[in-house]
Amino acid sequence: MSFPYKGMYRLVNVSKTYGKGNSAVNVLKSVSLSFPRVGLVSILGKSGSGKSTLLNIITGIDSPTNGKIYFLDKDLNRFKSKDKKIYQNQIIGVLFQHFNLFNDLTCLENVMLPSLVNGVNKLESKKRAIELFNQYHLEKLIHQKYETLSGGEKQRVALLRALINKPQVIIADEPTGALDSQNSILIMNELKSLSKDHLVIVVTHNESLIKQYEDYRIYIENGKVSK
Ligand code: ADP
Ligand code: MG
Repeated sequence: MSFPYKGMYRLVNVSKTYGKGNSAVNVLKSVSLSFPRVGLVSILGKSGSGKSTLLNIITGIDSPTNGKIYFLDKDLNRFKSKDKKIYQNQIIGVLFQHFNLFNDLTCLENVMLPSLVNGVNKLESKKRAIELFNQYHLEKLIHQKYETLSGGEKQRVALLRALINKPQVIIADEPTGALDSQNSILIMNELKSLSKDHLVIVVTHNESLIKQYEDYRIYIENGKVSK
C-alpha cells in the first residue's frame, strides 16, 4: 500500500557544502522540510545563511551535496533533462530582487518570452500576455521599453513574466529588496493573492513586512532550519 505525499516539496536530510577540505563551507546541514501545495511560505535568515542556496536547490539550478529533494514525490535530481526543462519553464515561476528582464525589449516582449521558449506560437503568446497586463491593470506599460520603468513597475512586469506559463509554484528571492515600502506592499499583496491557489515561496530579510503575509515561516541559522 502506498501513502502518496500530499505536499508540494519534501527535503530529506539535504546538505550543501561549497568547496573542499580546509576551505569547505557547510551551508545547509541535514535539512529536512516539507512545503504545502498552496500558501505563502517565507524564508528568513541573516545574509549568507543559505537562503538563496535553498532556493537554488528547489528550482533545480543547484543540487544537494547529500540528501534528497522531492517535487510531488519525484526526486528532482533524477528528472530527465526534458522534464527538468518543463519543471523550470512551466511548473515554477521565479522572481528576483533585480528583476532580470531584458532592458532593450518592451514589457510585452519580455512577458511573452517564456511562452515562446515553450514553443507556444507568437499569436497565442501575445494574447496570453495581453490578458495578464489587463488582469493586473498594467495595460499602459505594454509597449514601453523595460528600462524606462520605475522599480515598482519593473517588479510587477517581472511577476507577469513569471506567471505567463501558469506555474503552480512562485519562487521569489528578495522580491521587495529593491523597492520602496509602497511598491513592496503592492507586490506582497499580489503574491498573497496568488498564494490562495499557488505555493508561493518568498525569501526576505524584511521580517516586519512578511509577517503580515506569511502562512508558514522557515528560519535558517547556522545551516539548520526551524519552521
Ligand atoms: P543568503 O542568500 O542567505 O544570503 P547564500 O545562499 O547566497 O546566502 O550563501 C550562503 C553561503 O554560501 C555564503 O557564505 C556564500 O558565500 C556561500 N556560497 C553561495 N554560493 C556559493 C558558491 N557557488 N560557491 C561557494 N560558496 C558559495
Ligand atoms: Mg540570497
